[in-house]
Amino acid sequence: MNLKPFAADPNKSLGRQFKEAPSTLRNDFQRDRDRIIHSGAFRRLEYKTQVFVNHEGDMFRTRLTHSLEVAQISRGISRTLGLHEDLAEAIALAHDLGHTPFGHAGQSALNQCMKPYGGFEHNLQSLRIVDVLENDYVDFKGLNLTFETREGILKHCSNKNARQLGEVGKRFIQKRQPSLEAQLVNFADEIAYNHHDIDDGYRSGLVTFDQLIDVPFFNEISSEVKSESPLINDKQCIKSTIRRMMNIFIMDLCQYSQAQIDREQFKSIDEVRHAAPVIGLSVTMAKKQQSLKQFLREKLYLHPRVKAMTDNAQDVIQSLFAKLMQSPHLFNNNDNLDENELAIIVSDYIAGMTDRYALQTFEKICK
Ligand code: MG
Repeated sequence: MNLKPFAADPNKSLGRQFKEAPSTLRNDFQRDRDRIIHSGAFRRLEYKTQVFVNHEGDMFRTRLTHSLEVAQISRGISRTLGLHEDLAEAIALAHDLGHTPFGHAGQSALNQCMKPYGGFEHNLQSLRIVDVLENDYVDFKGLNLTFETREGILKHCSNKNARQLGEVGKRFIQKRQPSLEAQLVNFADEIAYNHHDIDDGYRSGLVTFDQLIDVPFFNEISSEVKSESPLINDKQCIKSTIRRMMNIFIMDLCQYSQAQIDREQFKSIDEVRHAAPVIGLSVTMAKKQQSLKQFLREKLYLHPRVKAMTDNAQDVIQSLFAKLMQSPHLFNNNDNLDENELAIIVSDYIAGMTDRYALQTFEKICK
């Protein structure tokens, strides 16, 4: 790895909450990544909705395959910019751990249920999983990850929540940035889902080629592809167009970010944390990204068939929440919890469910 002086460095990590002896074979960021991969929460991503509910079909992205794509893009960008690939990979693999079953519909339903108890936010939940909820270790709660990985997982946070999170919450109050590795994973996430959602949308039949060519950037690139290979079919053309578009976004992100890094002349990660954010897309490409997002919102996320799949989620989550609050012995033996404590463990339990486990539990206890 050809690391720049402002890259995150496992040898200068701000450390783990519980001090541990170093590993002989792996650096601390590799160790974080391995702990994430071996966690139960990571395995459950396989059965959680990205856009399509898991049982809708085997060929669509799930939270797991999405996270793998984000990790792959993040590593490539990190390598190009001389940043720490292992840290970017660890953050990418953990970035969606806190998602509820049934995607955004599930998250907003659980947030609604949790309103009287402080609300529910999937990003905060991702940190809670690695800090508290995973329980495979004797010496500490959670996975005891390094500060740098935890800082990267916590993308956004209200000042109220930040105050309760100690060191890792401070940057939100002080208006500072996380590492460049953390900054780039956010962009890799967007690049991944914008493109794979076009692909899944098309393969599901909900988005058509004719609709796609109404998006000027898609039209431009697909015309290029077609003029080079006049015999190409629509399916191959869409695949080739998506590959090229992703490549253009990633190259733009690397070039634009590199120019900003050069301008700042960072000498350390500490200077990165005190400067304005530097990872980003050029104005032209940021606009193209916005129009892709707009297209996906209108044509895919709000498509009646996607909505019908997720509308049911609200009913399932609300019913589970009400039933478990009323009869906590169904999943918990502790009788000494006040209402607030109970709501938090009910929320942890529901958020951890896969789509199918939530449906099965709903059938079993709510009907
Ligand atoms: Mg994501």
